[in-house]
Amino acid sequence: MEDYPDKADVYLIHPRETLVNDEVNESFQSTIKDKLTSLRVNMVLGERVVNMDEVKEKGFQNVMLVTDKGTQMKVDLVIPCTGLKVNTEAYKNSLGDKMNRLGRLNVDEFLQVKDVPDVYAIGDCNDVPEIKLAHGAQTQGNYVADNLKLKHEGKDMKPYNVNKSVFMVLCCGRSGGAAQVWRGWVLGDWFASKIKGQSVFTPMQWKNMGQKMPED
Ligand SMILES: Cc1cc2nc3c(=O)[nH]c(=O)nc-3n(C[C@H](O)[C@H](O)[C@H](O)COP(=O)(O)OP(=O)(O)OC[C@H]3O[C@@H](n4cnc5c(N)ncnc54)[C@H](O)[C@@H]3O)c2cc1C
Repeated sequence: MEDYPDKADVYLIHPRETLVNDEVNESFQSTIKDKLTSLRVNMVLGERVVNMDEVKEKGFQNVMLVTDKGTQMKVDLVIPCTGLKVNTEAYKNSLGDKMNRLGRLNVDEFLQVKDVPDVYAIGDCNDVPEIKLAHGAQTQGNYVADNLKLKHEGKDMKPYNVNKSVFMVLCCGRSGGAAQVWRGWVLGDWFASKIKGQSVFTPMQWKNMGQKMPED
């Protein structure tokens, strides 16, 4: 929208009134909504598209969208951005009885799958009550690695500290967005674009892997 301001009408259709999730606070919500409005994104909130199968069959192009509130919209292109489900293929047979209704593995305070010695689940596939984000998965990975080292050395493992705070950076366009940081503070365009919008944390990931980031 930033690059082609006169080219398209964009609609964001979302079944809930809140964007992102319920954990982010009101100020984050309003910052994001204001930003989307300034980018001329039309938000259709509280309505669920009910004919996605038909839309998919037609190749997501030149279709009529229908919502549960009866809204009909002829559109050129549909980009589905619905949440992904956990892929349980790897463990549904062997650990099926340890899964919750979302397919996540029940873990104990050490992120070990409940009553399954030496099998740990980290990141999106466990039932730790945190917002499922990449940095959370990374923290859990580091935590389990440190704990396994302690165990190997014959020391007591440390229980996992569930992260109750929300750290979320959402970019809108090239130069804006919102960030909810420590103590629930919400920062706007400058911070969101500076910390994430320009590089989407790519340099940090290269660094974490002990690799040199390619020049271009
Ligand atoms: C659209 C979208 C946007 C997101 N944006 C953000 C964001 O901006 N910031 C953020 O922090 N988080 C974001 N997330 C969440 C983030 O991507 C996840 O929380 C994070 O990737 C979880 O890491 P993970 O290692 O647990 O799982 P994954 O990254 O999903 O890794 C699991 C891996 O296991 C592989 N795998 C699965 N089954 C098998 C099998 N049977 N055999 C072998 N391999 C298998 C998969 O291919 C995959 O590579 C986003 C998620 C989505 C879907």
